[in-house]
Amino acid sequence: MRVTTAFKRLMDLPGVSVSEVDFQPARVVVTVRLRSRKLFCPECGFTTKARYDTRPVPSWWRHLDLGRWRLEVRADLRRIDCPTHGARTEGVPFARAGSKFTRDFEDLVGWLATIMDKTALRRLVRIDWDTVGRIIERVMATGLDKRRLDNLFVAGVDEVSWRKGHSYVTLVSNHTTGKFVWGKEGKDTATLDSFFDDLGEERSAQITAMSMDMGPAYEKSARKEHHAVNAVICYDPFHVVQLVTTALDKVRREVWQDLRKLPDQEAAKRFKGARWALLKNPGDLTDDQAATLRKLKRRGGDLWRAYALKEALRAIFAGDLTEDEVGELLDRF
Ligand SMILES: [Zn+2]
Repeated sequence: MRVTTAFKRLMDLPGVSVSEVDFQPARVVVTVRLRSRKLFCPECGFTTKARYDTRPVPSWWRHLDLGRWRLEVRADLRRIDCPTHGARTEGVPFARAGSKFTRDFEDLVGWLATIMDKTALRRLVRIDWDTVGRIIERVMATGLDKRRLDNLFVAGVDEVSWRKGHSYVTLVSNHTTGKFVWGKEGKDTATLDSFFDDLGEERSAQITAMSMDMGPAYEKSARKEHHAVNAVICYDPFHVVQLVTTALDKVRREVWQDLRKLPDQEAAKRFKGARWALLKNPGDLTDDQAATLRKLKRRGGDLWRAYALKEALRAIFAGDLTEDEVGELLDRF
């Protein structure tokens, strides 16, 4: 198989043929050609066979990474003269108007935003948080395919914010397909109410499980008549673990403050290194941190209890426990 054919299949972009693949140190640049002879306006969809001119420089988009390779799509585009929008660079079938990312990349980012925390997402897809915000805004502005709301049985809802918390958006995703299916500005009960309005009573009743944060706003909407009446409400693991981790850190700080009041300052100094021993997963500890943890266990008290609770919850969410074991674990607290 030729490398261009291989990449055409791998990337699965609609409406293009691959004309060149260039391997660079950290990225692969794939040059594509649009197959359609017709040009269309990215704003309104107006089509024409007449070109206005050709852009002097190529256009670029980032596509889903290929393992450790960053994948970039490159194309020489033409411009059209749209009766409504004037001279515009032609639209492409694989990216939204004005975006530097392919549709697939943006869809992935939108879904990830509903299932993982900011730091993890930023590391995974290697873009900054404001870019995530712009992607979500663009996806919502161009409108999501109405059919996405069909066959929604296991749903997730989460709020996403950016611009230092000035913009809040509520996103709903389909956990089965891994796509986000609905979004709207706002983060309160009324915001999620309008999702259920769009979904309608029949489809709302088909939802069997819905994951969300632990705040009251979304749950209140989901529990309303004609909404997710048949759904089990599930708390997102990352929200639960985040909550218990914050609680553990609070207890740790209190213990440290108490130690600092003692005449012997050595104890407080030794304790300062305890933070990572407590917060990291036990499997990732260094030998020193493991030793600190053993000392804290011997010491017992509130701090050890808080640590044990964190670890118990983590084990539950890791999913390797039987129902009986989970019950036993929870009985201890
Ligand atoms: Zn137009």
